[in-house]
Amino acid sequence: MAAVAALYERRNQLTYLRSALIERRYSKLTRCRVYLTIVRMMSIVFLNLDGPSVSTQFRLPSRVQAENLTKSGYVFLEKQTSFFASFIRWFDASAATPPIENGSRHQVDWVRTAPFIAVHLMCLGVIWVGWSWVAVGVAALLYAIRMFAVTGIYHRYFSHRTFKTSRPMQLALALLANSATQRGPLWWAAHHRQHHLYSDTENDVHSPRIHGFIWSHVGWITDHRNFPTKLDAVRDLAKFPELRFLDRFDTLVPFLTGASLYFLGAALSHFAPGLHTSGMQMLIWGFFVSTVVLFHATCTINSLAHQMGRRRFDTGDDSRNSLLLALLTFGEGWHNNHHHFPSTVHQGFYWWEIDITYYLLRALSWTGLIWDLKPVPAKVKDLNRYADEAAA
Ligand SMILES: [Zn+2]
Ligand SMILES: [Zn+2]
Repeated sequence: MAAVAALYERRNQLTYLRSALIERRYSKLTRCRVYLTIVRMMSIVFLNLDGPSVSTQFRLPSRVQAENLTKSGYVFLEKQTSFFASFIRWFDASAATPPIENGSRHQVDWVRTAPFIAVHLMCLGVIWVGWSWVAVGVAALLYAIRMFAVTGIYHRYFSHRTFKTSRPMQLALALLANSATQRGPLWWAAHHRQHHLYSDTENDVHSPRIHGFIWSHVGWITDHRNFPTKLDAVRDLAKFPELRFLDRFDTLVPFLTGASLYFLGAALSHFAPGLHTSGMQMLIWGFFVSTVVLFHATCTINSLAHQMGRRRFDTGDDSRNSLLLALLTFGEGWHNNHHHFPSTVHQGFYWWEIDITYYLLRALSWTGLIWDLKPVPAKVKDLNRYADEAAA
């Protein structure tokens, strides 16, 4: 009974500390102490390390104590606060999200970005683990499955609602797309909807016209302003608690994907040694290499698809159509078509515009798991069309 009561007390204290953070009842300095306290308390709860009574071990500093510190100490502790907050958000993306000040400028949150950099560095592991046909094959297969998931699910379903499905299937699709390691469904859709709203203007966070190639390709994702999910843009999705959960703990599915690949490689090395693979080799190729290539291929649509290719429609932005990008991204390269009419499931508007995601979604609709795939109305194909394209 005593153990249960102690756990209950810790849980209460954690809840109290969290609400203190959220309501900002304390100064920044105090919040730093609160973060430290949460980390220490979580280590006790989860690692089962016991100690003196929680309430005496972790006492919050008083407001007077906090205000008595010198300015330099304050700045130092403020840095600590943001360090721990960013660190906690590796695991819980919505933890104590700071308000974004209007007019604030580009600023990389290095702590928050560290896992993203680490995923890239892990690819260097191929130097040590070597390669095998089976590991490279799994990497390619996972690229294909997850590219379909990003374009067909995060983009055409969650961002644009271009077809319908049931609630259980919606969750299954979200889980699959989450394994692509491009954050949660709400975060992805919210950013993308803003892109369509403000295409190639000051408020478009990944416009190459406004921010340059590197920032539009990869920089924007490291910016402190772009980490939180803009819930206002995805009210229709935020009403599903299961989607909010996935969005909040968006590293959970990627972690399980990586772990499964490790165990797959370890099992193959034991039961099929002729394949010459191992747990680490499968993890490096199947997860890290595949995920990094997938990420950069996806990002070409933010960067290159607004710079490279032809324009059929006068869309008021720089979006372009490119066969090369369409092949790489399973259909997303018909980006000028897409900006012209985003609410159709098609990105290729004609039979010769190869759109693999559309073919796969069409096939999925035959099973009855998804339905109401929205077509392109015939008259839309002539609206705002450039004269030279119409003649061709
Ligand atoms: Zn675009
Ligand atoms: Zn779109």
